[in-house]
Amino acid sequence: MSSENPTEHPTEQPTEQPDEQPDERAADDQQRVWDVVVVGAGPAGASAAYAAAVAGRRVLLLEKAELPRYKTCGGGIIGPSRDALPPGFELPLRDRVHAVTFSLDGRFARTRRSRHMLFGLINRPEFDQRLVEAAQKAGAELRTGAAVARVEQHGAAVPDRRTVAVFLNDGETVLARAVVGADGSASRIGAHVGVRLDQVDLGLEAEIPVPDSVAEDWAGRVLIDWGPLPGSYGWVFPKGETLTVGVISARGDGSATKRYLEDFIGRLGLAGFEPSISSGHLTRCRADDSPLSRGRVLVCGDAAGLLEPWTREGISYALRSGRLAGEWAVRIAESHDAVDARRQAQNYTFAIKAGLGVEMSMGRRLLAAFERRPGMVHAAVTGFRPAWTAFARIVRGSTSLAEIVRDHPMARRAMTALDRSRPEAGVGAGAGAGAGAEAGAEAEGGAGGGAGVTSGR
Ligand SMILES: Cc1cc2nc3c(=O)[nH]c(=O)nc-3n(C[C@H](O)[C@H](O)[C@H](O)COP(=O)(O)OP(=O)(O)OC[C@H]3O[C@@H](n4cnc5c(N)ncnc54)[C@H](O)[C@@H]3O)c2cc1C
Repeated sequence: MSSENPTEHPTEQPTEQPDEQPDERAADDQQRVWDVVVVGAGPAGASAAYAAAVAGRRVLLLEKAELPRYKTCGGGIIGPSRDALPPGFELPLRDRVHAVTFSLDGRFARTRRSRHMLFGLINRPEFDQRLVEAAQKAGAELRTGAAVARVEQHGAAVPDRRTVAVFLNDGETVLARAVVGADGSASRIGAHVGVRLDQVDLGLEAEIPVPDSVAEDWAGRVLIDWGPLPGSYGWVFPKGETLTVGVISARGDGSATKRYLEDFIGRLGLAGFEPSISSGHLTRCRADDSPLSRGRVLVCGDAAGLLEPWTREGISYALRSGRLAGEWAVRIAESHDAVDARRQAQNYTFAIKAGLGVEMSMGRRLLAAFERRPGMVHAAVTGFRPAWTAFARIVRGSTSLAEIVRDHPMARRAMTALDRSRPEAGVGAGAGAGAGAEAGAEAEGGAGGGAGVTSGR
């Protein structure tokens, strides 16, 4: 655990000097007021703390767990995640994905391969710990075992209108000029801001240690299974000697989601291996008009409901929104009145809406189509080369779905057709499409051939 006293801020050279008078800074030091307090040390919080610390601000990062801590997550690092990492950050990759096997509720398995790496796989405890270390190196102070109960922006504990009081579970109060809520999908700070959600999903996962022969079979290849429940899918992400096997589906029928995971593991032939960890976690997507700030408090990552609605990919959303939240929290910390603080908070909202907001809208449309026509999505990605190429380019980060739809008339027409598509009569109705896909699938760039494999290999 590190110090909570701003006067003990390390002496490393910030890349930018704070825009603040020396006597003002000394007064804040004396009153023990931090410029920015970040709640939660996941990718969003570490990224926010890094951005604010690198701007030369006094930053306190509060984390309720001891680090490294486990987080239920596939650990898939796509291009936009890689691009949002601090400069010089070395990704602790456990595997590099060059092939994806797609199946439709266990059937019509088809493997697509790529000469170039599609995305990387990490273990979250290790990855998150390194991100926190990057923030600390930039000058942020870390306190672990520090669970935040609530924040207040007025009342007896708040000395003036420029200050936020952060209350810890152990009774201590910490003061800040700006607060970033990055406390994940059960966010206390999100509740303070009034975050509203329009999608909540339940993800279940098992970390399954496997013998070398099984691990070798999966090396460099992931499996994505379009599931039997509307909008659901499952995955196998290899991490060397351990496979991360999970499923995700709309919250509300936990036993059906659990059954999907059990069936999935069973038909993969992995039921005989004892998981080292079995866990579940919610993911949440914000409503389009949900707030991202209140007064001097911003929210980012899962706490704000920032997540790709179709894939439920959230690490890149956490890193990108965390970075923006850290940068705008610095501006809020510098604001001397409520009007200016509100303007800076609005700027953060605009930045999120213009980037991640647009991507989320597209993801919602794709999820709605996928819920109705999973077989069509399977057929497209396995049997229609441009769809696979688009998938590969999106996960590598060379484009986004929103860009593809904006720039390519054919993609725009396909999206509109998907918007209007009627439901399949169950996944079985997708079988025809899947079978067609099987006949047509071939490997991208011809590398490795498109030989179909069964999901239980
Ligand atoms: C099953 C599953 C699989 C997933 N797979 C992927 C994937 O492969 N790729 C991908 O990109 N995304 C994936 N995601 C989504 C991804 O895990 C999240 O979007 C991402 O972790 C969000 O990061 P975050 O920093 O916002 O929140 P978190 O990673 O949840 O971090 C929040 C932190 O806040 C701390 N905290 C919570 N409450 C408090 C408090 N009161 N006081 C202090 N600290 C607190 C927590 O301990 C935690 O460390 C998956 C999600 C699930 C559920």
